[in-house]
Parts: sequence; C-alpha cells; structure tokens
Amino acid sequence: MSELERLKLLTSQMHLEPSGGDECPKLSSRKEDSIYTSHATLPNGKHISLLKTLLTSVCERDCFYCPFRQGRDFRRATFRPDEFAKVFMYMHKAGMVEGIFLSSGVINGGIYTQDQILATAEILRRKHTYQGYLHLKVMPGAQKAQVEQAMLLADRVSVNLEAPNTQRLKQLAPHKEFTEELLKPLHWAEQIRKEKSPHKAWKGTWPSTVTQFVVGGADESDLELLSTTEKLHRQMGLTRAYFSRFNPISDTPLENKSPTPLERQNRLYQASFLIRDYGFTLEEMPFEGEGNLLLEVDPKLAWAQRNLTGQPIEINSAPRHLLLRIPGIGPKGVETIIKARRQSKLRDLSQLTKLGVMARKAAPYILLDGVQPAHQLSLF
Ligand code: SF4
Repeated sequence: MSELERLKLLTSQMHLEPSGGDECPKLSSRKEDSIYTSHATLPNGKHISLLKTLLTSVCERDCFYCPFRQGRDFRRATFRPDEFAKVFMYMHKAGMVEGIFLSSGVINGGIYTQDQILATAEILRRKHTYQGYLHLKVMPGAQKAQVEQAMLLADRVSVNLEAPNTQRLKQLAPHKEFTEELLKPLHWAEQIRKEKSPHKAWKGTWPSTVTQFVVGGADESDLELLSTTEKLHRQMGLTRAYFSRFNPISDTPLENKSPTPLERQNRLYQASFLIRDYGFTLEEMPFEGEGNLLLEVDPKLAWAQRNLTGQPIEINSAPRHLLLRIPGIGPKGVETIIKARRQSKLRDLSQLTKLGVMARKAAPYILLDGVQPAHQLSLF
C-alpha cells in the first residue's frame, strides 16, 4: 500500500478525536478518500492546521465504542516511525499541515506501542529538527519513564480516561484499567511537572496534559463526568477535558445504542469552563435530579435564573468574581467593564454592547447605576 493510501486510512476516523483549543470543539466533517486534517488553537491563541493520525490502526484491545477494536473487519494500515516522520515532514514542508497529533492502536502492549510513538517524536525533533506543534498520546499501560520522555518532546500530552470512574469504564472498555493504566500516567505527569526541572523539556517548559471522555457511552451522569474533571484540574494539573459525544459505530458491541445529543456535549464544555475559569464550584452547577444538566439552557443562565432573579448585580460596583457570574459576560467582558467604569458610570445597555458584552442576555440580572434595564421576559 502506498504512503498516501496508508495515511488516508490512518486519518479516516480521527475526526472523532477532538484536540483543539478552548472553545467547544466542533467536529468537522471529512471528505471520504482524503487525508483528514483539522485545526487546533495553541495556548498563545494561534490557529494551526493539524494532522491527526494514528501510527497504526491495528489494535489488540477491544474497547466497545471504538472503530479500531480488534476483530472489526476493515482495512488497516501501519507506519514505521522513520517512514511516518518522513511523510509528515514532506507535508509540513509543503505547507499542508503545521502541527501533529499522534496516537496509535495498541500492538504488543502499551509499552511497546509507546516506544513507537516516542521513536517517531525523537526522529521528528532530532533528525528532522522539527520545531512545530507536537501532541503525543500516552498509551494505556505506558511506564513513568515513557511519560517523562513524551513530556520532554511534546507541546501537549494526552491520556484518554474515556469514562469518569472504574465502574463506568468497565461498560466501555472492560480490558482497560482505570486507575493503573489511565489515572496513574496523569498523576505521573503532574509529579514530573512538580518535582523535575523543565530545562531539558521542549521549549524549556513542561507540556500541558489533557484527557477525553466518551459522553453517554456508559450511561454516566454529567455529575460523574464533571466531578472527575474537577478533581483532575485540582489534583493533577489537567489543562482541559474533551467531551466527545458517543456515536455508535457499526460492528461494535454498542452499535445499537442511541447517539448522545450534541447539546449534552456542549453543556458539559460550558459547565467545565465555568468551574475552571469562572470560579463556580461543582456544587453550584444546576444539576437536575439524575445528576444531569438541562439540555435546553446553558448552565450559567440556569444558575442565574435560580440565584440572581430578584437579586440583580450592580455593574458599576460589583467585584470581578460577581461580574463573572452574570450571563452574557465572560472574562474579557469583565476586564473591559472594570476599565470602562473607572472612566465613567455605566448607565445604558448600549454602553455594555459597545464593550463586547451580550447586554440583552445580561439585562435581567443587572443594575446600571441602581436601575434595572428594561428587558423582555423569557417565555420559559
Ligand atoms: S485501545 Fe484505543 S485504539 Fe484500541 S480499541 Fe481501545 S480505544 Fe480503540
């Protein structure tokens, strides 16, 4: 099989794997019979084109949701590390892609597979002196020294937990060990960041770590997913969690399970950002009886409806942490409001609009110089 054909096969399902920036990722559609590329936003805000691929689509594991699980009948492909590095560098030099996200099916165990990923990264960095963005996947069962090696070479490393706890993972991937194979590498990454000097690391700083959950595949609640995410942020320095809604794949044990609505994935992103960036606690999230968020209303608005109705916040004097709680006002909006109100009092919704705030959304929950602005009552 030619290198081009292999790359088409290896990237063919990678649109299912998010790896982008801070916004809720939108899974782009892909053209059949093409090499799939996507986009990522780097921590410095730069957008780059990304080659998301596997080194091999052969896998000895049998995760219930995965198109690459062993025994599933489809055409598979494999690259050797040196071959793959050459192909990627060709694409990179031709301006087709600026960065790479490298994962793999598991062959001969997690340790051997991780070695193949690391060998590819070494060749890219040392032989081809590749300076660009490199996101490496840590395989289930990889060793601590391999996690450290990945962190010395990459801009970002990921360990996909897939489910929020041991019990739920059993429903998705009965042969993956939640604590030993998946949680431990995330813990090691944080240990390495805290205990070892980053001076040998790529660009002199340790890379960020991220994880991914398959949402709805194990009938888990939003509370379970967000509770694990919150702990990972707090205890293991996780930069972000990706929430990928479950979509059934033919010829897998979960092929007859219903797909998870896209709205659920989006609500989880919104809630996780509220906890990570807006000062909300897990307990404040507006969960319903079953531990799930409402699909129809974004969680910040649902919180405001419960907590700010009848108690509007004065825009001209509220501290930063209270401004952040108002629907329609994000971290940037808070900063512009604080700057603007030092110059003069804000008395009109149009002034907020000019500052980049979603003034109509904020209107029911604010006072402008002691006066509640006129707003249309919500139908619901
Ligand atoms: S180990 Fe990874 S590639 Fe293999 S079946 Fe499980 S999720 Fe798929």
